[in-house]
Amino acid sequence: MNNCPVGESLCYTNIMKTYIVGNWKMNFSVGESSVYLHKLLQKVRAARDLKIVVAPSTIALQPLSLQTDRKKIRLAAQTANPHDFGAYTGEVSFTQLRGIVDYCIIGHSERRHIFHETDKDVRNAVAAALRNGITPILCIGETETERTFGETYDVLRDQLLGGLSQVSTEDIAKVMIAYEPVWAISTTSDARLASPDDISAVTQFIRHTLEDTYSKKVASEIPILYGGSVRPSNAGAYLTIPDINGLLIGGASLIGEQFLDIIETARRVQS
Ligand code: PEP
Repeated sequence: MNNCPVGESLCYTNIMKTYIVGNWKMNFSVGESSVYLHKLLQKVRAARDLKIVVAPSTIALQPLSLQTDRKKIRLAAQTANPHDFGAYTGEVSFTQLRGIVDYCIIGHSERRHIFHETDKDVRNAVAAALRNGITPILCIGETETERTFGETYDVLRDQLLGGLSQVSTEDIAKVMIAYEPVWAISTTSDARLASPDDISAVTQFIRHTLEDTYSKKVASEIPILYGGSVRPSNAGAYLTIPDINGLLIGGASLIGEQFLDIIETARRVQS
């Protein structure tokens, strides 16, 4: 990891909630999504301080919104178009998702790298989400090459401040950040996992940047999630990093037992 420019530990968050967010990506039919949600709802208990969120494919969002018990599991979209309506063939807008989802993942590295979403697209999406009463989960993260060239903190600062640049001071507290180092996503090698120290340095940096740009209050109130090959075996270590408020989980969220195991771990860590 590059040297964190922040220095001493701030560790000033007093956020009591933990968020466990499962990103199902382009997996499961609508029927499979519904069966999976049904099983999760049977096993998950409602808890005020533990927010469980799943992000199914867009096609499954509407039926699942009728099926879910929001006290137990809330829904996130994986992306949406920042225009409210119009001639954007194939797209779904935040306005159309209003009332269906509570959250939207924005700027996921797959959207940035495969679909060439720019910081401007990400910033417009964050603004559109807020305009439509949907909580943006703004993903930021450096690639392996950027890390190797010592650019981690520049990239993170650009993605963070770029994504938030249209957010008003009233709305800033409604945003969530997910730090997902691209090099650590969906790895099967333990050697490539981000270490708690790496992640801690980055969360310090994010909060410090938020404090410089907004205020200490804002910096201490915005939840920061970690994502990158989270599994039952490492979830506890990641959840005990000071200033981490939850996890964004890809692969392991597709396997019910693993996702439930991580939820249990979050419950244990909280108590
Ligand atoms: C992701 O793509 O957001 C992610 C965290 O995936 P995984 O958990 O599979 O690394």
